[in-house]
Amino acid sequence: MEAKELEKYRALLEARQAELLDVLRRRDGITIEKAADALDEVRLAADRELMIHTLDRESLQLREIRAALARIEEGTYGICLSCEQPIPKKRLDAVPWAAYCVRCQEAIDAQRAAEGTPSILEALLEETI
Ligand SMILES: [Zn+2]
Repeated sequence: MEAKELEKYRALLEARQAELLDVLRRRDGITIEKAADALDEVRLAADRELMIHTLDRESLQLREIRAALARIEEGTYGICLSCEQPIPKKRLDAVPWAAYCVRCQEAIDAQRAAEGTPSILEALLEETI
């Protein structure tokens, strides 16, 4: 891949990374209030659930972005980690942190679905930020 293109993807990744870090940092300040009554408690539990779910998704994406930036440094960016074929630019434009071509990604997703996705707690425990 040309240096000019690599810089374009690096800029996209860094912008998304900054955005995610900002969201995650702000969420750190959120405290769960003590519910005044039972109805509030149900609502707060649902909020908390949603928050954890979103946090999980964003943390995972942040990790993918960091891995993609590392691949730019290593000179392996844009190469599928599985079949080692170039990932089409159309896919990188849509998903700059893509580590696999569509075909390999689909195979991985299918395998993950069959195995069952890791629990939220597991993902949070892995989190290093
Ligand atoms: Zn592939």
